[in-house]
Amino acid sequence: MEHLRTQLKNIDGKGYKAYKQLEGCYHFQTYSLTIDHVQGDPFAQPSRLSILVSNEDALLAPELFTSKVRRVAAEDFLARAVATAIKKHAKGDRGIGKSGEIRIETSGQQVLVRNSLLIEAGSIEARITIGLPAAGRTILAKEAEDIFFIELPNIIAQGLFFSNLDQSRFKIHVESVEDQDYLRKQLLQNKLSAFVADNALLPRQSGIDDRPLQKNVIPFLSPESLACSFTLPNRGKIRGMGIPCGVTLIVGGGFHGKSTLLHALERGVYNHIPGDGRELVVSDRTAVKVRAEDNRSITNINISPFIDHLPFARDTNCFSTENGSGSTSQAANIIEALEDEATLLLIDEDTSASNFMIRDQRMQQLVTNAKEPITPFLHRVQEIHTTLGVSSIIVMGGSGDYFEVSDTVIMLDSYTALDVTLKAHALVDEKSIQKTQSSLASLLKHQVRRPNIEQLNPARGRKAVSIDAKSKITLLYGHHDIDLSKVEQLIDIGQTRSIGLLIYFYATNYASSTNSLNAGLKMALAAVEEKGLDMLSIWKTGTLALPRLHEVAAAINRIRGK
Ligand code: ADP
Ligand code: MG
Repeated sequence: MEHLRTQLKNIDGKGYKAYKQLEGCYHFQTYSLTIDHVQGDPFAQPSRLSILVSNEDALLAPELFTSKVRRVAAEDFLARAVATAIKKHAKGDRGIGKSGEIRIETSGQQVLVRNSLLIEAGSIEARITIGLPAAGRTILAKEAEDIFFIELPNIIAQGLFFSNLDQSRFKIHVESVEDQDYLRKQLLQNKLSAFVADNALLPRQSGIDDRPLQKNVIPFLSPESLACSFTLPNRGKIRGMGIPCGVTLIVGGGFHGKSTLLHALERGVYNHIPGDGRELVVSDRTAVKVRAEDNRSITNINISPFIDHLPFARDTNCFSTENGSGSTSQAANIIEALEDEATLLLIDEDTSASNFMIRDQRMQQLVTNAKEPITPFLHRVQEIHTTLGVSSIIVMGGSGDYFEVSDTVIMLDSYTALDVTLKAHALVDEKSIQKTQSSLASLLKHQVRRPNIEQLNPARGRKAVSIDAKSKITLLYGHHDIDLSKVEQLIDIGQTRSIGLLIYFYATNYASSTNSLNAGLKMALAAVEEKGLDMLSIWKTGTLALPRLHEVAAAINRIRGK
């Protein structure tokens, strides 16, 4: 510790590069500080540091991390506590560039597996970044000394020592996440694809702000006929709406809360922080939002179950395009979701291609089936459930055709959910039941497909490995710019970073030894889940978050051919 102070005095006023001399480990009274990497200049990515505190000093209650899910929740809580302490104790910007900035990566409304804070082997490790202060390119050692000897000790004490933390909130955080995990695991064995608890608060502040809407919110209440209850390990008995496996429609007038409910189900694959309002809204962890995605690139997908007989006899058994249409992209998104072993498809009419979703009787009379390449989802959705066991939840306010292929129909009426299944089924005219069904193309099967390994080469220019998440939705991988803007269940840039590294890991270790993308990715993700995110990176970082298999596959599937 005093060694660090002396080092700082020695480099005061020198050129920025002299900060490099600080790399190494320093022992403070209750923690050790390692300066893992020093940035090259004040404008570069800030320097990376890690702080290791033994639990003999931090004194976290051991029951907070007895299982994996509890540990992840506790890590999430601590990272947020460190972030709060940074806000309070870091003086902030001083000097130029990123001088004085202190950061730790945390999640938004969800609790993700991250590597910014780890509880391991009786210790807590926090990984932060600091912009080492400078005026011009001259080291401001006094400012740095304040950071290391005043601000950081306060941040560590307030963020990591149990006696200074809000212990009851900590306990609630961990128990809530454990309950959510438990609840999600109950779904399939109870033949449910999703569950929305009574009193859940679904609407968000805005399309870009995932925090709960505060004013005039109608809490969710299950209709009696769909109500079911669970006994959670911590919270005890809860009641809510169970959405059965099968085909479920969400109907209702415009602006009555349909998309809001579906959005909550999309996010229901993740655990949420207490106070989010969606803590007890869960869907099966393999649920995939499927939408139309004009212009997306599609490579070697068998979309023939939905689209066949294209003009110029284009082959749809192995379809590729650099520029998908609404319907071809939505078909590809569904086939890929099935390939990734999704058990639940989530579809909103707002983001669907209407010709992919429906084709009514009159249109069938005018444009005969022989002339129409598209078999609408309407004609396959039931079969997808009966033959593949994959459920669908579809927001559909605009067409009653779906009544006849649905098992459950939920109406939202001024944000109140009603079970209108019987009413909707009573409206179905027996004679109109899918006449086209018998003439459908061959059945859907899980495709066994492998990406072109050469496409997964991460080299760019002179760099042998160039992988960089420019933003949550833009991944640079080798010479590819992968557009993830329509991959709606990707929620954090840390996941995007991990996706880039996972593609490389998959390409190097599993792509050629496995016969399908799905099998290889499963192995890659299993390794990461077992050994931790750190195995993906050659440097120690705290910037990664764990994605699902679906989002990793989505990135690979969007790589453009050229
Ligand atoms: P729809 O898809 O049926 O047209 P939306 O889900 O887009 O409707 O919701 C319309 C508006 O109502 C949104 O601004 C949303 O935030 C708000 N909203 C949704 N659910 C609730 C609720 N339970 N209480 C209050 N406002 C809500
Ligand atoms: Mg809507």
